[in-house]
Amino acid sequence: YSGYNLLRDPRHNKGSAFSEKERDAHYLRGLLPPAILSQELQEKRIMHTLRQYKVPLQRYMALMDLQERNEKLFYKLLIDNVEELLPVVYTPTVGEACQKYGSIFRRPQGLFISLKDKGKILEILKNWPERNIQVIVVTDGERILGLGDLGCQGMGIPVGKLSLYTALGGLRPSACLPITIDVGTNNEELLKDEFYIGLRQKRATGQEYAELLDEFMNAVKQNYGEKVLVQFEDFGNHNAFELLTKYRHTHLAFNDDIQGTASVVLAGLISALRAVGGKLAEQKFLFLGAGEAGTGIAELIALEMSKQTKAPVEETRKKIWLVDSKGLIVRSRLESLQHFKKPWAHEHEPVKTLLDSVKAIKPTVLIGSSGVGKTFTKEVLEAMASLNEKPIILALSNPTSQSECTAEEAYTWTKGKAIFASGSPFDPVNYNGKTYVPGQANNAYIFPGLGLGLIISGAIRVNDGMLLAASEALASQAIPGNFEKGLIYPPFSNIRKISAHIAASVAAKAYELGLASHLPRPKDLVKYAESCMYSPVYRNYR
Ligand code: NAP
Ligand code: MN
Repeated sequence: YSGYNLLRDPRHNKGSAFSEKERDAHYLRGLLPPAILSQELQEKRIMHTLRQYKVPLQRYMALMDLQERNEKLFYKLLIDNVEELLPVVYTPTVGEACQKYGSIFRRPQGLFISLKDKGKILEILKNWPERNIQVIVVTDGERILGLGDLGCQGMGIPVGKLSLYTALGGLRPSACLPITIDVGTNNEELLKDEFYIGLRQKRATGQEYAELLDEFMNAVKQNYGEKVLVQFEDFGNHNAFELLTKYRHTHLAFNDDIQGTASVVLAGLISALRAVGGKLAEQKFLFLGAGEAGTGIAELIALEMSKQTKAPVEETRKKIWLVDSKGLIVRSRLESLQHFKKPWAHEHEPVKTLLDSVKAIKPTVLIGSSGVGKTFTKEVLEAMASLNEKPIILALSNPTSQSECTAEEAYTWTKGKAIFASGSPFDPVNYNGKTYVPGQANNAYIFPGLGLGLIISGAIRVNDGMLLAASEALASQAIPGNFEKGLIYPPFSNIRKISAHIAASVAAKAYELGLASHLPRPKDLVKYAESCMYSPVYRNYR
């Protein structure tokens, strides 16, 4: 191993932080300038440089370069500056990066598997240099954030999510594998773009699609065993529900858009009720949007109500109503509904608009998950405020431009009554001399801790009980002192501690359900989770 190679290996490179002794022992003399910097000083220098870039995409590219050059320093930056850097490595900037992935692509950060590789997926997995993979995030690029079909350029999403698994959840970087499955794209602009990096064809569907994904899922299990976690991310909803139904009973797999979102929103509702008073089962819910996020959240709420009251889930579902693009989902529409909407078709006369649905259903909680902005109008929010002392309003659609309402609108139009959280971040709002702080229902609160809990317990399946446990653990980390300001989520600066608590609760559930294979069960699971977490501190090379 020459010194020159050591400097070019991101896993081991420390740059100017190599000590005199290390420089002697590893043939590094002369390859580095004489000054020796501590990791802290390197961090300070790079943060200083990053802050000079005014264009978010430049920050993103600088961070990706750092990840390729010096992995430990990259993660130290991310961990120590999580609130500042999360919007760069993840939404919203990662969305722009995906849109321009063709021109910023430099080096493979994950595996590309395309229709051309049919029959060879196992071989492809073996081309990846790491053997010991614990988490895979996979996308087919069809519904990237709220940006639609970005085809093969969706790779930025698994890459970004996995860097959060490491930074926020403490999984080892070498154990994380980003994968993009390219079955074509229906995005005409990309198909015409001479720099497009993916297959230049329309999306495969039906049997051709199902066979490729089946080969992939089987190859993953064959190559990495039963305990590798597969997170489905940003699939179009028709495929997302089908893949989840098909593989949740044969693999350790979950869909973050359906289940992760549900878990983070349920946590917000549990803490909102600690602020407002009242029980979950006493609430009535109305959703605008009945897709992956909407029906996923609805189902987890119904399960939690059922758990709390012992009523069957068929009963608790009746407290939850959803509106889709055709209006309120009601019994008379049953025949024509997609299967994931059917459980929500309750007895009611047809209602067309959201406002009329609010008036008819009289919800205590209003949740936006349609991807369409500006839909929580003044009339809708005023109606919520006239029906409730403290209406709970969640505007989940991303990015910011698609939010159902802004934080300011939520507080102003309800005259300061609303408990508000959103999918995209909003600044605190001053209304009538009082400061209100909106929460962000960011999936990054849940999936890193969930993943850590599954891995440390050696779980072999993801179970709804584990998602409920994750929600309760996150809710328990909210700071009651913040409820006065309306803030129902804990600060991101505590995320490693929060993740350890979520991991411990998830692992405890896995043991309880007999789904854990890592035996014996560690006594103190929080301590154990913390002790398993990756640290970005440099090691000494002797
Ligand atoms: P999806 O599966 O495509 O579902 C969208 C749903 O909205 C569908 O039921 C659709 O109705 C409905 N809809 C569309 N336009 C509508 C309109 N004008 N009026 C009423 N309903 C309408 O999408 P998804 O994955 O659930 O994502 C939806 C949004 O949630 C996205 O903006 C996403 O960014 C956001 N999201 C947020 C978080 C978070 O905050 N943590 C997490 C995940 C997703 P039809 O079924 O009739 O077409
Ligand atoms: Mn997603």
